[in-house]
Amino acid sequence: MSLDGFRDECGVFGVFGAQEAAKLTYLGLHALQHRGQEGAGIAAADGSNIVRYRGLGLVGEVFSDDELGRLHGTTAIGHVRYSTSGGSSTVNVQPFLVQYRAGQVAIAHNGNIVNAALLREDLEEHGSIFATTSDTEVILHLLAGSRQKTFINRLVDALGRLQGAYSVVVMTPGRLVAVRDPHGFRPLVLGRRGDAWVVASETCALDLIDGEFIREVNHGEMVIIDDEGIQSLYPFPREDRRACIFEHIYFSRPDSLVFGRSVYTQRVELGRTLAAEHPVDADVVIAVPDSGVSGALGYAQRSGIPYGRGLLRSHYVGRTFIEPDQQIRDFGVRLKLSPVRSVLSGKRVIVVDDSIVRGTTSRKIVRMLRRAGATQVHLRITCPPTRSSCFYGVDTPTSDELIASKMDIAGICEHLGADSLGYLSLEGLRTVQGTDRGRFCEACFSSDYPVDPHPKGLKDIQVNLFSQD
Ligand code: SF4
Repeated sequence: MSLDGFRDECGVFGVFGAQEAAKLTYLGLHALQHRGQEGAGIAAADGSNIVRYRGLGLVGEVFSDDELGRLHGTTAIGHVRYSTSGGSSTVNVQPFLVQYRAGQVAIAHNGNIVNAALLREDLEEHGSIFATTSDTEVILHLLAGSRQKTFINRLVDALGRLQGAYSVVVMTPGRLVAVRDPHGFRPLVLGRRGDAWVVASETCALDLIDGEFIREVNHGEMVIIDDEGIQSLYPFPREDRRACIFEHIYFSRPDSLVFGRSVYTQRVELGRTLAAEHPVDADVVIAVPDSGVSGALGYAQRSGIPYGRGLLRSHYVGRTFIEPDQQIRDFGVRLKLSPVRSVLSGKRVIVVDDSIVRGTTSRKIVRMLRRAGATQVHLRITCPPTRSSCFYGVDTPTSDELIASKMDIAGICEHLGADSLGYLSLEGLRTVQGTDRGRFCEACFSSDYPVDPHPKGLKDIQVNLFSQD
């Protein structure tokens, strides 16, 4: 991934009916760590009470044995955070846990509510006092303020007022609820581990705890798990699915199954299609690690040009690493990536990456490869030019910072100092993704936003309500 690129969003996990639910959640969050490194939290319930622990940092840094030991119960939810809305402070780390007139409720959210500011303004005008700057807190205020009689109806009422992206796990002392927004922007899967039910952003979290993948939570679906068993509802007005295509291109782990497909297989296929669309004579295909690796393997397979490990990535650069100032700024990239001269020297190199965002890092990479002896550098990108920002839970620069919104491909190639530049076409991307499981959101390439990212007023959304508590 371009190191100046789109940033990961968040990951959620939940388990119902397992001994040591918090410890399983801790493991699940480890598997989802790539989705957020800023903070982590777990809330656990023993049937009558919910306790929570959270903090800033990686999962392994936040929790000690003692803290995990205090999170008793057979139900738990967890969250890893990268702040897409709200600031970086402990109060914004999820799960959020509140006590309202009907009892305790905890929530963890992956996504972004595009009408959160409007809802918040409205709630504040009616007396709500917010404790965080996160859009997720809006859901809790709507839930607490709902006039519906049962918890599920209140939750449906609250979620039905949201516009945007949400995959949420919600917990009361005796119940776990998993919901995906009507477009299903962000992933969410359902699994089992023995008699316990598990929900997670990606299947890699199920694999780590020896869980079995059952199915995706569908777009617009609410799954309710309690001592009575499991129920599935579709309480919101139906919408077309618009799963985030970037999950396959970059965000998700290659060993995960996301939106019903192997992320690894998808990425290899993107690389193969890219090779067919943008062939070039060269001696070696290399990847910008880690997320460019599967695409580079696909490019090498299709082109017949050997794959080599021309760039290595350091996994030890901490989050606290301070970028040096202007004079020595290339050190930032060199600390993260290092060239392998024996692979590159005297070679015509094809370098495969998953995206170019601002172009800053790609330019440094091209320069690094040339300094390591590459005689030609051909840059190949496994997605179309990213021209528009995301409003559905991915932290992106504003569109005027995106290089493809300012230059054409020839201009970008010249700016980066590459010998050639080829992006996968939108048609190529669509062909690889297919439509058999529904359509994808591709707004960062096409600017075709499935949900108005700048709603002007609160819509009075009608929701179908149900009778169960
Ligand atoms: Fe994903 Fe791009 Fe759509 Fe955001 S705008 S949900 S990153 S495809």
